[in-house]
Amino acid sequence: MDTSYEQLLDRAFAQLPSLAAEKSDFKIPEVDSIIQGAKTIIRNFSQIADVARREPDDIAKYLTRELAAPVSIGDQKLTISTKAQAAVLNDKIRKYFQAFVICKECGKPDTHIEGTQRGYETLVCEACGARYTVKRS
Ligand SMILES: [Zn+2]
Repeated sequence: MDTSYEQLLDRAFAQLPSLAAEKSDFKIPEVDSIIQGAKTIIRNFSQIADVARREPDDIAKYLTRELAAPVSIGDQKLTISTKAQAAVLNDKIRKYFQAFVICKECGKPDTHIEGTQRGYETLVCEACGARYTVKRS
């Protein structure tokens, strides 16, 4: 057996999961929505909140602002008092995740929000330790 140091290194690196692969593991959930009359219902709303690890109320407030329509949470669902296509809702949810959930340093969703001061909050990443201010629009 004649294993060079370089070969050992190669082997060690090969065993490390690649960062890129880890990043792509996480998928922003897609909304499961239906339009009923003049309202839209997101049927998997509590599931989306679970994936985001955020209070359903927080996401609901975001959607209210973004869609300029009242919303109400009930029975795992979110009811929005306007007609909104799934593509629009998916776009809003994606923006929410990008702004308030996914760490912009390492791309992972293992984050939480600390402190609320005049609309400024700190996103803290549990995966890489990054901390940065997020601003509610
Ligand atoms: Zn991070």
